[in-house]
Amino acid sequence: MILTGAGISAASGLRTFRGKDGVWEEYDVEEFGHVNRLQDNPGRVWELFGPLRAESKAAAPNTAHAVLAEVERRLHATQLFVLITQNFDGLHQRAGSKNVIELHGTSHRTRCSNPDCDLEPFIDENPHTDAVPLCPMCDHALRPDIVLFGERIPALQSWESKRALRDCDLFISIGTSGTVAPASNFVRSAEYAGARTIYVNLDPMESRNPAYKEEYLGKAEEVLCKLFGVET
Ligand code: NAD
Ligand code: ZN
Repeated sequence: MILTGAGISAASGLRTFRGKDGVWEEYDVEEFGHVNRLQDNPGRVWELFGPLRAESKAAAPNTAHAVLAEVERRLHATQLFVLITQNFDGLHQRAGSKNVIELHGTSHRTRCSNPDCDLEPFIDENPHTDAVPLCPMCDHALRPDIVLFGERIPALQSWESKRALRDCDLFISIGTSGTVAPASNFVRSAEYAGARTIYVNLDPMESRNPAYKEEYLGKAEEVLCKLFGVET
């Protein structure tokens, strides 16, 4: 089982939230990306996530994404591979990964902010930075299909993640600062299931989580090639 965060997409030119040159330095992402903004100022949500949508569409998967896709391809039919990503950039799928759980949704889809509306979420590459798009059915603001700060993980993704963690014998987190719950707690469940637990990241964890038994610091695109012995 693999858990990825923004750091795995850094080599694709996408900025992380935290860390050096992070989006956080420019925006208060919790302010711009909080679910409450959908009520009082949805334009702010698009101001943050609109450009990220455009950037992830323009980006290409990097070596780290490719290694994970290759590892999944090479597994025996009896081995289960689950890739849980906190990223909403879609790069794992574009690299060829199949069994991907998008814990925080995807920036490539738009949906209505009104929970009672029947509008189906739809693929949308427009960054909507000029004007807030409105729902053709109910006139509420449309929103990116991303889990915002203050929102829960959708039930399906939450359930699929918990099920994978129960049977997990190897857990590797890659490129995540380990500060955003619930993903930051997954390693404890993996440890409880008896898994080998590995942390791969550029920077060490701010407060070290003792559930990780191994740590490899460096760029994901370099560390993963060595860890899996895969050349791409
Ligand atoms: P984060 O921004 O909190 O942390 C990113 C981590 O990646 C940092 O600890 C940094 O040291 C590390 N890092 C930077 N470059 C790296 C590299 N080349 N190799 C390995 N590690 C590297 O990200 P998070 O923990 O994922 O949490 C922030 C939230 O925002 C998540 O939901 C995240 O997915 C989302 N986000 C997503 C994207 C994206 O989809 N590409 C971009 C920004 C933020
Ligand atoms: Zn609607």
